[in-house]
Amino acid sequence: MSIPVISATLAAIKGLKRICPQCRQEQLVPRGKKQATVPCRFCGALIPPSGHPQK
Ligand SMILES: [Zn+2]
Repeated sequence: MSIPVISATLAAIKGLKRICPQCRQEQLVPRGKKQATVPCRFCGALIPPSGHPQK
């Protein structure tokens, strides 16, 4: 019943989730910084907004 809600939530989280290219730590960025390059919380490397998380 709540699957659409969960999907929307996951999509939102995905958009805000970044994986640091340097230390590979996942982190959530504030909604307001979705389009901005943010520094990694763990190692300080800059993480660009265009989501191409490397695996
Ligand atoms: Zn990092």
